[in-house]
Amino acid sequence: MIRLGCKSVAENVMEKVAKETELFISEGNRAPSLAVVLVGSDPASMTYVRKKKEACEKLGFLHFQYNFDEDAAEGDVLALLDELNERDDVDGILVQLPLPEGINERKIIEHINPEKDVDGFSPINIGRLLIGEDCFVPCTPKGILEILRYFSVDTAGKKVVVIGRSNIVGKPMAALLMQKGLDATVTVCNTKTPDLRKETEDADIVIVATGHPDTIDSSYVKNDAVVIDVGVNRIADASREKGFRLTGDADYASFENTDVKITPVPGGVGLMTVSMLMMNTLEAAKRRRG
Ligand code: NAP
Repeated sequence: MIRLGCKSVAENVMEKVAKETELFISEGNRAPSLAVVLVGSDPASMTYVRKKKEACEKLGFLHFQYNFDEDAAEGDVLALLDELNERDDVDGILVQLPLPEGINERKIIEHINPEKDVDGFSPINIGRLLIGEDCFVPCTPKGILEILRYFSVDTAGKKVVVIGRSNIVGKPMAALLMQKGLDATVTVCNTKTPDLRKETEDADIVIVATGHPDTIDSSYVKNDAVVIDVGVNRIADASREKGFRLTGDADYASFENTDVKITPVPGGVGLMTVSMLMMNTLEAAKRRRG
């Protein structure tokens, strides 16, 4: 197998954003700014929020953090979003998902000003993406495109199978790949797909985003396919200090004696999300300054 480690891909993006930010500020603009809203204290969400803050600090972005208790009222979160939508010193707004039960995720996402929706989850941005207009592209699919570019994996004329149809990964990924310029022939699978192996076995690129370890193994793909593993699954492991280890949605070890190019977990797609968010935040700042 050929391991497509993504540390250098993410570092490359951060360097590019740092350079562009420097130029942007040298032209007399205020530093880009990101407001992050966290509801509750889910440990994984807290880690993601901390990483976003660290990335902002590294790039010299302004960063505003808002924390609500687990049992916060939906109306209070909406009221904060109203304020952030209007504030001139806020370029990007991100509400960390998932939200606790009792808060309607769609309602919250739809409340974010699309011009500040740096996660790219609002219906306006998803709609623009679908019709190939300028928009904020969701960070995970955007990061995957960056990985493909970095490793010179061409998508034009290639058969790409996306396993999973979520609004944050599968659907935007498929919508991007089918656009003019990327020109892939895209198949999107879900749990009702009768024979997953039949879909993947002649694919040039397989993007697996199911949230289930071992959804595919080497027997599902051609010997020289590219596999992008989006999954992040916690597997109980008493031998680890934290009591768990992370694994993807593909059975990584099974690819050992193949020529498959595959992103590892950890060390793969997950490393891209924060740098792509920083890229979107800089983009938001640029657009708002005209
Ligand atoms: P999700 O909302 O749970 O969606 C999973 C999708 O996979 C659903 O569409 C489901 O089909 C489909 N699916 C599940 N098992 C399947 C199977 N055996 N065959 C075919 N399709 C199957 O998950 P998500 O939010 O897209 O996330 C997917 C994975 O990516 C998770 O492990 C998540 O932690 C990870 N993730 C990673 C990043 C990152 O930055 N690395 C970012 C986001 C998500 P149905 O629609 O029929 O149920």
